[in-house]
Amino acid sequence: MAVVEASNLVREYRMGTETVRALDGASLTLDGGQFVSVVGPSGAGKSTLLHIIGALDTPTSGTIRVDGTDLTALGDDEASEFRRNRVGFIFQFFNLVPTLTAWENVALPMLLDSRSFTKAKPRAVELLERVGLGARVDHRPAELSGGQMQRVAIARSLIMGPKILLADEPTGNLDSKTGADVLELLAEVAHDEPDRLVLMVTHDNNAAAVCDRIVTVRDGRIDERDA
Ligand code: ADP
Ligand code: ADP
Repeated sequence: MAVVEASNLVREYRMGTETVRALDGASLTLDGGQFVSVVGPSGAGKSTLLHIIGALDTPTSGTIRVDGTDLTALGDDEASEFRRNRVGFIFQFFNLVPTLTAWENVALPMLLDSRSFTKAKPRAVELLERVGLGARVDHRPAELSGGQMQRVAIARSLIMGPKILLADEPTGNLDSKTGADVLELLAEVAHDEPDRLVLMVTHDNNAAAVCDRIVTVRDGRIDERDA
């Protein structure tokens, strides 16, 4: 089933009197159960595409459905709820809270919701075990290696059970071997559930070996062979 259906996306930014077209008619369909990387030159529109798919930004025109939801129809509160409950975000610099332990970082999105409060710790510990950090649940970020911090961030991205994970240069701050292990984990996470999509913007040369699909963005469009 298609998790992402984007058609003719245009995103313009106004910079004073200039208009920059970050996306210029990007169309793309992505199925679940896949690990997909988005590649292309700097300034091609990769981050803009990822932000629109994650409901962090809206297109100037075009249509975008993610996990069955028409993102252009969402108000600000609905978009915020969509981001919290339906999407997992993974960043280059991990974005962990330094004062919280690994399990607290993972549990944070659930701890913020009183309805799921009591389930948060057992679920966080289970996810840390899933990413190979069962022995590190009480460690703080400073006591973990870069690769371990990214594993914590991956566990956190999964806690609300999203169908789509968006990763922006997740190996950009890791050495090649550690990065390869993180890519392997992201591939496993994509394949764990039949309709989960992991979508990653990357410059990592190791990505081609583990990804199911590579999408090239150039001048605000998706390369036709990849759409
Ligand atoms: P990539 O991720 O492929 O490097 P981006 O999506 O970040 O590309 O940017 C695409 C183009 O849009 C670039 O020319 C960039 O300068 C421009 N752009 C992106 N975000 C903004 C913004 N918030 N304001 C103005 N221009 C932007
Ligand atoms: P709101 O404040 O509107 O409720 P949040 O800031 O809680 O929205 O964002 C919800 C999700 O979106 C969080 O998981 C957060 O990691 C992610 N997010 C928010 N802003 C950005 C951003 N600029 N880039 C990437 N992800 C973001």
